[in-house]
Amino acid sequence: MKNSVKITTFSRILDLFYPCYCKGCGKFGYVFCHRCYFYNSRYNPPFSTKNDEDFNQILVSGLKEGVLEELVKDYKYHSRRHYAPVFGGILNETIKRVGELGEKTVIVPLPTALKHIRLRGFDHIDAIAREFSRLSGFPVLKVLERAFDTVQVGSSNEERKKQARRAYRVSREDFERFLDNFSEVDLRKTHFLLVDDVWTTGASMRAAGKVLKGELIRRGIKLKDIKISAIVILKNNGYEFN
Ligand SMILES: [Zn+2]
Repeated sequence: MKNSVKITTFSRILDLFYPCYCKGCGKFGYVFCHRCYFYNSRYNPPFSTKNDEDFNQILVSGLKEGVLEELVKDYKYHSRRHYAPVFGGILNETIKRVGELGEKTVIVPLPTALKHIRLRGFDHIDAIAREFSRLSGFPVLKVLERAFDTVQVGSSNEERKKQARRAYRVSREDFERFLDNFSEVDLRKTHFLLVDDVWTTGASMRAAGKVLKGELIRRGIKLKDIKISAIVILKNNGYEFN
């Protein structure tokens, strides 16, 4: 853990000096300038589905292509932590445009593999969730944990599903702490919004949703009152969600 803290501090220092140019047009001083943002959201607009068995709504900021895809790749694989506010803004625009969540929403970030946090020097989903929370005003309920630390990339579809089903668990201690801090939260009226960066097969999201649902049932919330939705920045091509 000590090592990962060191990397984090070092990348923070780098961020301060890292010159940023718009990923779309190269304009200095922007990660994603207004012009490119509006151009992208016109040609690769956010969309959602409501006909899903696991979620009330699945919200997607755009298809996995073009500048949006480049931004996510850079953020994840080149540790550009200063992109996090851009993604927070993109998710916030997505819920404004296609979301049907209501005011009593809480953001639930999908937990990142520890191996990836160490490699990147920061938790890329947690950083997005915090920026998204700052802009939307929705609190972050960070209760999902990885039950074990496997990484999905490279596994077959069936294997991914199998792994995902056992991958998550709820930290009850963190759940209690959240409820202590946000005493106004009524779980029966809350819309839970799971956040991840990319929807590939949906196996992670679905598994995380099921674990959260199980915990809410355990806490006495009736199935008909449970509202869980999912939001991602990117989805692979096509509008099917399986
Ligand atoms: Zn631009």
